[in-house]
Amino acid sequence: MSTQLTTSSPKPGCVYLVGAGPGDAELLTLRAVRLLQGADVVVYDNLVSQQVLEFLPALAQRIFAGKRRNEHTMRQEQINALLVKLAREGKRVIRLKGGDPFIFGRGGEELQTLAAHGVPFEVVPGVTAASGVASYAGIPLTHRDHAQTCLFVTGHLKDGTADLDWPSLVRPNQTVVIYMGLSGLPIICGELIAHGAPADLPVAVVQDGSALSQRVVTGTLDDIAQKVKAAQLKSPSLTIVGNVVRLHAELSWFGISPQGLAS
Ligand code: SAH
Repeated sequence: MSTQLTTSSPKPGCVYLVGAGPGDAELLTLRAVRLLQGADVVVYDNLVSQQVLEFLPALAQRIFAGKRRNEHTMRQEQINALLVKLAREGKRVIRLKGGDPFIFGRGGEELQTLAAHGVPFEVVPGVTAASGVASYAGIPLTHRDHAQTCLFVTGHLKDGTADLDWPSLVRPNQTVVIYMGLSGLPIICGELIAHGAPADLPVAVVQDGSALSQRVVTGTLDDIAQKVKAAQLKSPSLTIVGNVVRLHAELSWFGISPQGLAS
């Protein structure tokens, strides 16, 4: 390849906030791969796949920063302080996050700490779950017949309720992508219906999007929570609400051989 990306090797004392994509390592950016290959230390999250970590040099130090629901392995402040410390030791530090670090990834907060301490940093975007997972599930997020707008929201529950702007989520001709919405799914669907969404609006919940273990459950606002429970879907799962979900039946491709047989 003739492209020369001279800034691709990580510099000592700098922190690289890198998006790892939704799981399939083929979705990493070239820049992410090159930075990973030159890392001294990587601080990575729960959602980063094993496949992605294989790009690290054998001797690179790997620090798991965790973050499972209700079970934070390291507190956010500890992670922030760790990044400052590693950079000050002159290490080439990669802060690796699932998806895109600037979409529901708290990447901004980590950078604010680095900025406050005068630590240099760079950001490498990644394929966020909404686009990666929707692509592998064969669900276009916009489509001229179905949706002209796409909203990304977090369905994380606070005090047993999702604090969302419901009226804006029930507008017609849009797709709503809900991150972290698995445990709150019954409440979310109930609120959408209560705010005027049709009970038969299609919904898909995709577990492990882009990984070989990907599972897609489809239904409607009315019945998806029960179907997801019956299928025992687990985290990470992404919820897609809107008429674009109808296209899944026609456009599903991942895990299907060209002859249309499951591989
Ligand atoms: N920064 C990440 C999102 C972190 S929030 C990004 O840009 O993708 C974590 C949520 O992302 C999960 O609860 C889930 O809703 C979603 N998610 C991430 N990876 C996923 C995957 N491979 N399959 C399904 N959902 C995923």
